[in-house]
Amino acid sequence: MKSLKIILLLNIILIGCVYTYADSSTLPAVLVPPSVRRGYPLKTLILMSDSVSNILIELLHGGSVLFKTHAFPAGTTKNKHIWIGLLGIPSYLEPGAYSIRIIGEGGARELRYRRTVNVINVRYNHEKISLNTSLTELRNRKDPLVKEQTKELIKILFNFDKNALFNTGVFFKPVEGRMSARFGDRRLYSYADNRTAHSIHNGIDFAVPVGTPVHACGDGRVVFADNRVITGKSVIIEHLPEVYSIYYHLSKIDVRKDELVKRGKIIGESGVSGLATGPHLHWEVRVSGVAVDPEIFLKNKIIDKSLILSNILEQ
Ligand SMILES: [Zn+2]
Repeated sequence: MKSLKIILLLNIILIGCVYTYADSSTLPAVLVPPSVRRGYPLKTLILMSDSVSNILIELLHGGSVLFKTHAFPAGTTKNKHIWIGLLGIPSYLEPGAYSIRIIGEGGARELRYRRTVNVINVRYNHEKISLNTSLTELRNRKDPLVKEQTKELIKILFNFDKNALFNTGVFFKPVEGRMSARFGDRRLYSYADNRTAHSIHNGIDFAVPVGTPVHACGDGRVVFADNRVITGKSVIIEHLPEVYSIYYHLSKIDVRKDELVKRGKIIGESGVSGLATGPHLHWEVRVSGVAVDPEIFLKNKIIDKSLILSNILEQ
C-alpha cells in the first residue's frame, strides 16, 4: 500500500504524462507513459529497493533497437533508489506502436521490464529556403574539417555522465524575439544551381539583431564553446545526463569550455556566423542525442527532483 501511495504521488512528478506502473506492491516499480508525441522526450521513472550499477532503456520496433539511453540515479531515500530515464523521440519517427525495454544490471534482483508505447503524430510546417552561391557552396562543401566537427559534436551529444545533475527546472528563453522557424520544420533547400535538398530543422530560430545578448536556458556546464564551419560561433551546455542545449550562429562567445553557468547567464551575443541567411539565434535541445522540441522545456520542468524527494520523505 505504501508503495502504491508513493507511485501515485510520483505520477504527478513527471509532468504532462499519464503513467502506468509494472507492480504497485513490490519494488522495483517502473513508470512509463503509455504514449509519447514524436519530438518529445519519453520520461521514465524507476524505483528500486536495492542498488543497481546500470539501467538501460531501449526503444524497439520489430525486434530492433532504434534508440537507447541510460537512466540516472536521482536520489536515495528510506532505502529506495530513484532512477530517471529521458529518451528523446525523434520528430521523424513514424507514429505507431513501439516497445520500451528496461534492463537493470548489477543489482541483487534482476530488473527486466517491457511495455508498448504509442508514438503520437505531430504535424510540422514545410518551408522553402533559397541559398545564394556562397551558402550553397558552404552547405555542400566536402571539407574534412566539417566531417571532423560533426564527429566531435556527436561525441559530445551522446556523452552520458550520470553525475551531470545541474538543472531540473523550467528553461529560460535564451532571447526575446520573434520565432522565425519552429522545431521540426520540414525544409526544402533550393541551391543556387537549382538543385534541391531536404532537411529537418532541429531547433527554434529567433530573428534577433546581431549583438542581442544570449542567455543560458538553465544551470549547466559548458561542454563546447568554439567556432564551427556550418553553425558558426557555437555554445553547448550540459544540463542533465545526455540533456544538452545548443546555441548557434553567435557573433560573440562569453563563456569557456568546462565553465559552470547559471540559468539566465549571458553566454554570448547573437549573430549571423556560419550557414545563416540572416541574423538569428538557433536554439536546440538534445535528449539522448536526439533533437526534441525546446518549447516543452519553457513550460514544464524536466524533472522536479525536490518534489520527488519531499513526497517520498513524507511517506
Ligand atoms: Zn535554426
